[in-house]
Amino acid sequence: MKIVMLGAPGAGKGTQARMISEKYGIPQISTGDIFRANIRNQTELGQKAKSYMDQGLLVPDELTLDLVVDRLAQDDCSNGYILDGFPRTIPQAEALTFALKSQKTKIDYAIDVEVPDDNIVQRMSGRRACPGCGATYHIRYNPPVSDNICDECGTELIQREDDKAETVQKRLDVYHKKTQPLIEYYREQGCMYSVDGTRPMEDVFEDICKILK
Ligand code: ADP
Ligand code: ADP
Ligand code: ZN
Repeated sequence: MKIVMLGAPGAGKGTQARMISEKYGIPQISTGDIFRANIRNQTELGQKAKSYMDQGLLVPDELTLDLVVDRLAQDDCSNGYILDGFPRTIPQAEALTFALKSQKTKIDYAIDVEVPDDNIVQRMSGRRACPGCGATYHIRYNPPVSDNICDECGTELIQREDDKAETVQKRLDVYHKKTQPLIEYYREQGCMYSVDGTRPMEDVFEDICKILK
């Protein structure tokens, strides 16, 4: 089962991808997490990616494509995967389709988590992330058991640099311009589905599970 999660920044792609990953036993591949790990480890890729991410801009396709294609070739991807945050541009989607075609396969489901821009800004200000394991929390909608500590691994949670209100608005603009056209792209491929992302996360997950049957 090969799944692409679509939706604005903060729509809940990562939250849902994590739940799908647990239920179906396939890896969640988040390009944002991969870039952030590279920044933490001070790799060359991380240094290049950081300046774009801090400004709320997309990392250029040249830096993103090979990374994903290599990741998909790893053993744990043989039964499928959930792509969370990739593709984000039409050229990325085309490159993915091309890479899969050469292995005689394709994306089975593209799932758009729909949330209006107004809700997004509110969500982002309350998002807290675990730099240790990638888990995501919300101070109001999904708080950790003990204040500011990850339930899964005990690491102290952080607020992402790019979750500040000004940067969020920039990321939303970029989303509408560069990423939203992917909905039409996957519709034409016949695998486009959407869910109402404003509902509580367990309800959104139920809707997704119905689609994945
Ligand atoms: P969000 O949780 O808002 O969807 P991500 O963690 O997926 O954010 O991505 C954070 C940042 O990393 C993006 O704003 C962008 O700069 C960069 N990024 C992540 N994935 C991609 C991609 N597929 N192409 C280009 N840039 C990306
Ligand atoms: P994305 O990966 O699309 O950027 P996240 O999964 O990180 O989004 O979610 C963004 C923020 O909103 C997080 O703080 C998360 O806990 C919270 N969140 C996710 N889904 C919901 C939901 N259905 N209702 C309320 N808050 C949610
Ligand atoms: Zn953690």
